Amino acid sequence: EKIKKIINYFKENESKKYLAGKNVMYNIIKNGWNGVCFLNAQTKEKDMYIDYKKYFVDLTIEYNKTKKDKFKYNCFLCDREMKDLNNDLSFLNATGFDTSRKSSHVWNFVNDIAVCPICKLIYSCVPAGINYVYSKGIFINDNSNIDSLININQKIRDEILREHETNNSLTYRAMIIALEEEINDKVKYELSDIQLVRYDEEKYRFNILSKKLLEVLRSSRDDLNKLIKTGFNEINTYFNIYEEILKKIMNGENLFLFIHKLLSLKLSKPVDAHYKMSHLKSMMYINIKFLKGVGFMENMENDIVDSGNKQGYFLRTEYEKRSSENKIGGICYRLLNGLKTNNKDIFMDVIMNCYLYIGKTVPKIFVEALKSDENFKTIGYAFVSGLINEKKDKNNGGNNNEK
Ligand SMILES: [Zn+2]
Repeated sequence: EKIKKIINYFKENESKKYLAGKNVMYNIIKNGWNGVCFLNAQTKEKDMYIDYKKYFVDLTIEYNKTKKDKFKYNCFLCDREMKDLNNDLSFLNATGFDTSRKSSHVWNFVNDIAVCPICKLIYSCVPAGINYVYSKGIFINDNSNIDSLININQKIRDEILREHETNNSLTYRAMIIALEEEINDKVKYELSDIQLVRYDEEKYRFNILSKKLLEVLRSSRDDLNKLIKTGFNEINTYFNIYEEILKKIMNGENLFLFIHKLLSLKLSKPVDAHYKMSHLKSMMYINIKFLKGVGFMENMENDIVDSGNKQGYFLRTEYEKRSSENKIGGICYRLLNGLKTNNKDIFMDVIMNCYLYIGKTVPKIFVEALKSDENFKTIGYAFVSGLINEKKDKNNGGNNNEK
């Protein structure tokens, strides 16, 4: 009976309104700003709706009503006249600064970065535009027009909620799906650079998704999709490879180091490696597209990955014929070492010895590898990925290497 009462209480509209309010305050708004209004621990107003109205809206209305001809100051953002410099942007997380604590940021130690109530009201809406997953946020500033801006961020939201049901919180995945539709619509006209704002670890990160990068992502779609369920463990944390790749590509990093890391992990601790060598091939294809996108290796072809990979596989079978597969691990480590330090001599030394051992000529693909650093790494890593025997780690994780 009591429980029923309680349940009914929660069903009442008033309760819903305030429970939802609290929820939004602490889970969403707090990511955008803090310390003022209803997020000020010392606020006197218990009703957050009234508090917001008083703190942001009423002051704006009042400001609009007052005559401003005697105001001496101007808003830092919109240049409207202001009475004083009391409003600053320190309530926004990771932007502006708390002038009461640190005035040394500004010239002459005098804070002249203040805003008018109108701008403050607008900025208080920041959390409404960003899509948050826990404490991570994402916002695409597609400012070609307001409709497509709302449209694309709405799509991201839908995707995040949908993916969330399948217990995966892949924020980049959601973004890519939304972007894909958008890009496909736009390609007919013209692709333009898009600004991406990410909020992570209480900091804002800004990336420009350039036309070229968007093209790379679009043309890598099939390979990227193969990686959605792959990942690895590192210090008790699970990382999704798809998300990690996108993070790197958007930061303008190529994938060589990441490929290196995943190959090393497969050798040293296969239990933590939830991916197959074919996934690494997909990563290499993506990397080639990325390198081409940023202007390297205009005529680099996907088939150098395939031929490098095949030669690795052939060499391994030759070693297996001679019952020398126990030597392969050591060979892989030495090759990886040469690749990491970009040392072609070390690498070719190991290669020569291997082919001497099996009594065959060194394949032509290694001539290609010497043509440039990018060729060297692409072919080298593809070769190592062919050399590593996956069947061996059936003992450790079985076929269930994907997570
Ligand atoms: Zn203003």
